[in-house]
Amino acid sequence: MCGIFGFFATESKFKVQDLINGLHALEYRGYDSAGIAFVKGNKIVIQKQTGQVAALETKAKAYLNTPIYLGIAHTRWATHGNVNIPNTHPHVGITTNIALVHNGIIENYMQLKNEIKQQASIQFKSQTDTEIVAKYLELQLEKTKNLISAWENTLGRLKGSWAFATIVKYLDSFYLLFAKNQSPLVIAKNKNTIL
Ligand code: GLU
Repeated sequence: MCGIFGFFATESKFKVQDLINGLHALEYRGYDSAGIAFVKGNKIVIQKQTGQVAALETKAKAYLNTPIYLGIAHTRWATHGNVNIPNTHPHVGITTNIALVHNGIIENYMQLKNEIKQQASIQFKSQTDTEIVAKYLELQLEKTKNLISAWENTLGRLKGSWAFATIVKYLDSFYLLFAKNQSPLVIAKNKNTIL
């Protein structure tokens, strides 16, 4: 079973190390690879590694003390595609303005992948069922120019099980999108949170 962890704070009071610590807390669930995405300056930074969270921690060493306000983290239990870095989450959209992690299985991913290939010449980087969701979301965002509609349209096309956490950079602001169907997802908020 994979694990997802993430947060969105009003200021950069967390560090990249906190994302790694969140993954350490989920290690009991079993996994084969791990990855994180976080906002640094005006960009989404992604780090991935196969094997233990400790290996990801070593790889991301230069970032561990970086203050952050928005990040997502994932441990993968591969269902579609081998255990390798391209298949490790987070997966990106058509651009790196989207970083998405997923727990579950998108049953109709092949159909959606073929649909996308017919619409645009998009390079898929992984063998996963998950990557299609990040690509589809960005296409929907281009089409609707509305983040909520794009997310709802994307979710509306999916069959299967999912918990998602997604960072989206849109019009120079960063957003955290999430959704669940069958797979578990817990969201905690404080009194300042607008959901
Ligand atoms: N089906 C996805 C994959 O194979 C997610 C697996 C998971 O829940 O970790 O990458």
